[in-house]
Amino acid sequence: MSEPASLEQVEEWWQAWPDANVGIVTGVVSGVAVIDVDPRSGGDSSLRALGQRHGMLPVTPEVHTGGGGSHLWFGVDSELQTVTIALGVELKAEGGMVVVPPSRHASGQAYRWRPGGGPDILGLAKLPTWIAGFAGTGTEPVIERADHQMARTTIEQEEFEETWARAGVDLLPGDQYYRCPFHDDHHPSLHIDAEGCRWYCFGCGVGGGIGKLRDMLGEGGRSRLRTQLRGHAKRALPVTIHGAHEIDVVGESHHQDELLAITGGRRRYGGVNVGVVARLVPEPDNRFDPDAIAVEIDDRPVGYVRREDDQWVRSLVDESLDMHGLATCEATIRGGWDRGRDEVGWFGVALLLPED
Ligand SMILES: [Zn+2]
Repeated sequence: MSEPASLEQVEEWWQAWPDANVGIVTGVVSGVAVIDVDPRSGGDSSLRALGQRHGMLPVTPEVHTGGGGSHLWFGVDSELQTVTIALGVELKAEGGMVVVPPSRHASGQAYRWRPGGGPDILGLAKLPTWIAGFAGTGTEPVIERADHQMARTTIEQEEFEETWARAGVDLLPGDQYYRCPFHDDHHPSLHIDAEGCRWYCFGCGVGGGIGKLRDMLGEGGRSRLRTQLRGHAKRALPVTIHGAHEIDVVGESHHQDELLAITGGRRRYGGVNVGVVARLVPEPDNRFDPDAIAVEIDDRPVGYVRREDDQWVRSLVDESLDMHGLATCEATIRGGWDRGRDEVGWFGVALLLPED
């Protein structure tokens, strides 16, 4: 990479050094601010979510980076901070720098202007005020996360981190570049998203999630989570309330770690569809709702019976407690799919009860 240059100087640089990689300083000095969208970190969906809330971005010159991301160029005339606006979306303004086409990315691919999207055809649009608002001096950056981005549980993140530690890579929070342990890497070309549990090495041209990482390390066999599932299947409770009418459990979003451990991990495409036995536990001391009925699977809390179902479920539960000393029913855990990249689904639970 050569010394950074202003927009007007870029052409002169290439006339002098045709093979140079050139960056431009963002901010007032060049009058350019750039929205850097990294799809591997969920930048695409973050930008869509931001657009739905604040309005679409105006048409403006756009660079396709060699690494699959994009840089949207805007005009600025005031000092704005370089800030993270959302997961995978960064505003590069004061003190930032972006690489200019046709420089080369670490992947070996060239940066290119989007066809019909170069500055020779389109003028720079003015940076929308809602983005400038995030980046104004003294303003806290607003971090917005698409829901599915949070769907990785802390158990998965810990297992991901432990597996990288075995590869000799100490993970830092968030999105970072590291020296790749799988090739002779002199420049950090391994991108790891510690929260999303995804990785990609531009040198090796290989990436994926925890499964692919375990393959790379020659760690065959089952993950820790799958092993837990096998142990669980032997400890099912007897069923005391029989039925085939499905009712949804609520509050599972607070118990994704438990559901991940119970089901033994995510599955591709359709996700899990696991039959289990759930225990229904009245919580008269629940300070938010004394009629609450907690749902436990494998001695772990996974959610609650919906408030509108409390009354009739309660009569079934009381009857069962009188007769059997416990109240259990069949239940199904669904969801938890992993379709690659950042498409990860929540786990949900449905109870199978008699018709109301
Ligand atoms: Zn590599």
